[in-house]
Parts: sequence; structure tokens; C-alpha cells
Amino acid sequence: MKKHKFVQFMKKYGYYCLAGVLVLAIGLTLAFTAGRSTEETLDISSAKNPVVSVSGEAEPLTFTLPMENAELVNAYAGDGMYWNKTLAWWEAHNGVDITSDNLDVMAIADGTVAEIDTDMFYGTVVTIEHADGLTSVYASLDETLSVKKGDAVKKGTVIGKAAVTMGNEAEEGAHLHLEMYENGEHIDPANYLDFENK
Ligand SMILES: [Zn+2]
Repeated sequence: MKKHKFVQFMKKYGYYCLAGVLVLAIGLTLAFTAGRSTEETLDISSAKNPVVSVSGEAEPLTFTLPMENAELVNAYAGDGMYWNKTLAWWEAHNGVDITSDNLDVMAIADGTVAEIDTDMFYGTVVTIEHADGLTSVYASLDETLSVKKGDAVKKGTVIGKAAVTMGNEAEEGAHLHLEMYENGEHIDPANYLDFENK
């Protein structure tokens, strides 16, 4: 009798049981997939290199030297071991000094002109924001620039000319003082720019 009752029950409610199991399975799959895709999204946003392009594909940021035949005159010295001959004292050098026969200064990578400033210490300064939390700052530029705030620039876009506008480093002559920041912290531009192989 018990078996007979079970068969009757399954005949009557079997489809509901099956449907219930299916709904549960689909629900679990969706929850699992949603959880995974959230993790993947977080991974992408915190990843250091991939830049999501318009097409949605990851494109790594690439760099060029900011001047043709760039000559590195003074290296980065975050430790304070830089002799500033203009001010005649040792100090930290938070960037690199570069010169060339061709004074045109180029953006080192794709980005957006975030700021343009002029002061007596750094001269005319262009700040470009890039992907990956990177920022490049071009000081000692001539006040006549080829870009304005908000412009999108490509790697190699000429932004202005190196000059002698930086009071702190006037003794260096016409040169570019280039600084780089990674997530708000000064870094050595030589980490990204290859001065050995031009
Ligand atoms: Zn400098």
C-alpha cells in the first residue's frame, strides 16, 4: 500500500518535484556565476597593466622618450643625493632632466592633459594623466604650448618646447624636468623610459 501511495503521489506531484529541483539548480548556477563575475570585475579594476579600450580589449600602456635623441642630464634621486647647481645645495631630485638638440617635448604615453600651471620655481608645467594610476609632469616648458587643459594626447604628441623657465634649475639651460607619479607617489621615470636605447 505504501508503494502504491508513493507512485500515486509521484504521478500527481512528480512534475512539481522535478520543476522545483530545476529551479533550485538554475538559482544556484546564477548565484555562483554572479559571484564569480563580481570577483573578475574587481580583479580587472585592481590589475596594474590592462587598460580597457573602447573595444573592451586590454591594451597595455606603452611609452616613448619625451624628446628626440633624449640625453639624460640628471637622474632621479629620491634619496636627496642630487647636487642642484642652481641653488648650490644637495637635495632630492624627484624627476629626470633631459635635453636634446630638438627642444620639442612629447607626451610619453596616451593620456589627457589634466593641468597646466606656471610658477617661478618650475616654470610652465603640463600634467598628463594616464591609465594605470600613472601621471607624467613636464616642467621647464616654454609658456607657448601646443596643448590645452582637457586635450587627449597620444604617445609622441608634441605638447610644447623645453626652455629655461624653471627657476630652480635655470643653470641647466633649456631642458625638460620630467616627473612621474604612480598612484600619487613619485617614481623614477627611468622605470618606464629606456634612456639607453633611443
Ligand atoms: Zn630636474
